Order: sequence, then structure tokens, then C-alpha cells
Amino acid sequence: MGDCGHPSSKIPFPQRPVIILGAGIIGCAAARQLLLNGFSVILVAEFLPGDQNIFYASAWAGAAWHAAGGISPDHQYLQAVCYRHLLRMARDDPDSGVCVVDSREYVEQPPSENSSAWGKAILPKFRDLNHGELPPDFNCGWAYETVVTDPTRHMPYLRGKIISLGGQFIRKRVESLEELYALFPESRIFINASGIGSQTLHDVRDDKCFPERGQNVFYHTSNCHTLYFRNGKEYTYIIPRPSSQGVVLGGVKERGNRSPEVDMEIARDEITRAHRLAPEIVPENPPKECLGYIVGIRPSREGGFRLDSEKIKSRVILSAYGFGGGGYAFSYGIGDALLKMVEDAERDHIIL
Ligand SMILES: Cc1cc2nc3c(=O)[nH]c(=O)nc-3n(C[C@H](O)[C@H](O)[C@H](O)COP(=O)(O)OP(=O)(O)OC[C@H]3O[C@@H](n4cnc5c(N)ncnc54)[C@H](O)[C@@H]3O)c2cc1C
Repeated sequence: MGDCGHPSSKIPFPQRPVIILGAGIIGCAAARQLLLNGFSVILVAEFLPGDQNIFYASAWAGAAWHAAGGISPDHQYLQAVCYRHLLRMARDDPDSGVCVVDSREYVEQPPSENSSAWGKAILPKFRDLNHGELPPDFNCGWAYETVVTDPTRHMPYLRGKIISLGGQFIRKRVESLEELYALFPESRIFINASGIGSQTLHDVRDDKCFPERGQNVFYHTSNCHTLYFRNGKEYTYIIPRPSSQGVVLGGVKERGNRSPEVDMEIARDEITRAHRLAPEIVPENPPKECLGYIVGIRPSREGGFRLDSEKIKSRVILSAYGFGGGGYAFSYGIGDALLKMVEDAERDHIIL
């Protein structure tokens, strides 16, 4: 018998690949952090970087780093770690599609205790806007620098990084985690980063997961260096995408809707709201040839995302899914957290 009671285990534990189910931003960010620390990694997924299926959320995100309101200090820290990594990429690696931009955030009411204002602890150049800088009907707002990620650049970039570090992608749909275990009998650590897939995997069937449709307008413009965010009566954003010379206008959240069709009424409403928020960037009637449409399903979860470790027989299963509208803002923080969890599992196998 080999270790863990497995009869055919000849490979020392640290050399057995960590298997990641899912190659969205969560699975890929985790793969990168693990590979940078010497682990061997295989990603198994139905959709891979570069694909454009609406159920592959990572292809469609805005994707702005915005401090989430209403989250615990531990989750705030995960977002802060992610900001640190994204900032480094923006500075050192222009191919990453990550850029630093100015931001203006307006709120209708003074911030509650647990609002997104916690971001001031990490965001450079954070300051309160004075009344003269606020649009009518707003009482409060902030200016700061943040990072935006262009997924059309970042996902292919990350794929290249993972391969150059020795990681491997396998395109395959599985119906259960058991099916995955059978494919890799030597592996002991599995990461479930399957997003909305966790709703249907036979041995996960997490009924807290739900699809939340998003639809955005892409407006081609060279005026693409400032982010605007309005959260209150209205959920409206203008996310600049300097590496694609445009801005992303949103947003909308439709629970349970899985339609891939562009709803032109929503698109029109998003343009109108964006024009109200920043008329100097978005004209009332932008030329049709400058417009594109984005539809994607956010992998949301009641009560928030899952990030935990379970020991099931001889395997360690790490779950990291349910990131809804914040997967990019958490991604590399989750990658680091998963790295620590894998290191703990490795230690338990080797030392104890
Ligand atoms: C319109 C829109 C705007 C957004 N804006 C932002 C933003 O501004 N900032 C932000 O932080 N986030 C934003 N998001 C959210 C962000 O896109 C998601 O949180 C993030 O992409 C989730 O990543 P993920 O890796 O968990 O899931 P996904 O990207 O959905 O990846 C899941 C992976 O699991 C694989 N998989 C699932 N089931 C199986 C199976 N049974 N077998 C094999 N493979 C399987 C899939 O093929 C895929 O590779 C936005 C999302 C949308 C739709």
C-alpha cells in the first residue's frame, strides 16, 4: 500500500498535480499562484480562456476592481490582496490588459457603516468629493485610483502564463467530482472552481447557486480613462477599457434569466443612464457603428461565495465558487488563499 492507503501511489505527494475544475478567472488565478510556488497543476474545464459562451462569466466581466459593500473584514482583505496583484500587473505587464484608471463614485445617501468606503484603506489618491464636484441629487462621493481588467486580453494572457509555467489545460465537461477523481487517481488535492457548474454537478448540487444575467453595452471611444460608479437607487457604471479603446456601460442583474439574446430595451436604458452619469463621455445617441453588446451569466450564490477545504476520505477538496458580480475583484486574493490551503494539505500529508 502507498501512502493514504492508495495501493498504486508511487509518486511523492508534492509531485502529484493539483487538479482544478474550471478555467475561469478563479481557476486560472489559482493555477498561476500555485505554479509560481512550484506546484504542478492541471485545469479541466468545458470552457477555456478565449471561449465566448454566456455561461463562461469570465469572458464577459466589466471588469472593475470595486470595493464590495456589506462584506466581512476577511473578505475585504481578500479583495485588498487582489488589488495588490492587479496593480503589479498593471505596472509591469501591459499585455495583461490590467490598467490603472481614475474613478468617481457617487452615492445618494451618506455611507452606512459597512459600505464600500472601506476601500479608502487601500485605494491610492482616495478623497471625498466636495459638493461642487457632485452631480445634482447626490450628497456624497469619492474619487480614487483603481484597476480595471480587460477580460478579452487578460484571459488569453493568463492562459499563456499558465502554460509557460508548466500548467496544463484539458477541455472536458464532467458531470460530477467523482468523475474527475477517477481521471486522476494519483492526485489528492482537487479545487472546485466551476462557477455556476456547482449548481448541477451531481455530487455538489449546491442549491444556493443561481444564474444572474448581466448585459452591458460596449461603446468604442478614445475617452476611456475614468471609471464612474453609481450605487443607490440606480446601479449604473461606466468602466473604461483602455486596452480596447472603449467603455463598458451597465448594469443590470436579472436573477434566473438565462437568455443569450440582447435585450435592446435594456441596452437603450443603459446608454441613457450612462449619459446622465457622464455626458462628457457617453453622448445621448452614440453612433450605432461604435456600439457592441455583451451578455453573460454571473455565477451567484445566496449568502455569498464558498471558500473552504474538506477532507473526504484520502482527498482534500477545496471549494471556490459563487463569486457573482465580483470574481475579478477577488480573483488573485482567492488564488493566494487557495495556495495557503493547498500548502496546509501538503504539510498534513508530509509532516504529520
Ligand atoms: C456582465 C458582467 C459584468 C461583470 N462585471 C464584473 C466586474 O466589473 N468586476 C468583477 O469583479 N466581476 C464582474 N463580473 C463577474 C465575473 O465575471 C465573475 O464573478 C467571474 O468571472 C466568475 O469566475 P469563475 O471562474 O468563478 O466562473 P466562470 O468564469 O463562469 O468559469 C467557470 C469554469 O468552470 C467550468 N465548468 C463549470 N462546470 C463544469 C463542468 N461540469 N465540467 C467542466 N467544466 C465546468 C467552465 O467551463 C468554466 O471554465 C461580471 C460578470 C458579468 C456577466
